[in-house]
Amino acid sequence: MKLFAIFGDPVAHSRSPLMHNHVFKSLGFKGCYTRIQLKDGSKLRETFFELGLSGANITVPHKEAAFNACDEIRGFAKKIGVVNTIIYEDGKLIGYNTDADGFMYAIEPFGKIKSVLVLGAGGTSKALSTRFKDEGMDVTVMNRSGGRLEEFKESGFKTETWDSIKIEAYDLVVNTTSAGLEDDDLPAPRGALELLLKQASFSADAIYGKETPFLKLSKELNVTTKDGADMLLGQGVLANNHFTHAQYDLKDIERYMKESFLF
Ligand code: NDP
Repeated sequence: MKLFAIFGDPVAHSRSPLMHNHVFKSLGFKGCYTRIQLKDGSKLRETFFELGLSGANITVPHKEAAFNACDEIRGFAKKIGVVNTIIYEDGKLIGYNTDADGFMYAIEPFGKIKSVLVLGAGGTSKALSTRFKDEGMDVTVMNRSGGRLEEFKESGFKTETWDSIKIEAYDLVVNTTSAGLEDDDLPAPRGALELLLKQASFSADAIYGKETPFLKLSKELNVTTKDGADMLLGQGVLANNHFTHAQYDLKDIERYMKESFLF
């Protein structure tokens, strides 16, 4: 039996154990997936080895620490320095990022997006903003504080803090902050957010399993919204494919994972 886990803080809300365990069982794969609350991201590597894990997902706030915990980084994660999936391979930890592809899957129904405002400057923001830029979108990143924006600025993104935000029309506004995850906060000051959303066609939240204040406000302003459930599904299918070493059809993984959303 192979053991997998999700590391995060908080982590109690995570649906990943339910999703992956249902897929493992349905596919006949001998695996078990649990959740681990980890306060100190620098302990990720030793905890992974202590528990004898075969793989893991990493959520808020340890995705950048997860990058540093790995021996080798593959694919898109290399470009952004953010890891949400780790696989044990011949004594080494291999890091991947499946969040950006998961999110692109989620916003497919919105059609062509030309401009996007990304709220937040953490690991999820870095993954999504970079993928949006790769797709040719005009990307602005806004965060409540300036520190984490420096890296975005150096990578050529337009950046704003709450103090400098300009009200412009964006096709899509995305919340990648953890505002609303465990509190009733909006990811930006209400007045500015209202003006921004009034001019937007779509909004999306990375948070799932609840209507965040950001999504509630979007709906009140008649913006077409999406919560983080489809992103969760998309990133989960790709992570499960890594866990099971690509031996199953992605369509089957997706079907069983979707089933787990009904529980
Ligand atoms: P990080 O800790 O790396 O970044 C958090 C960001 O949120 C920072 O920019 C921080 O700003 C900002 N922030 C935190 N609290 C507030 C607040 N009250 N108001 C405004 N800004 C705030 O987190 P991640 O990028 O790893 O995750 C972000 C969110 O995305 C989480 O809620 C996570 O659950 C969700 N997520 C969902 C996924 C899915 O599959 N649906 C996948 C990945 C993530 P500052 O720099 O000023 O501290």
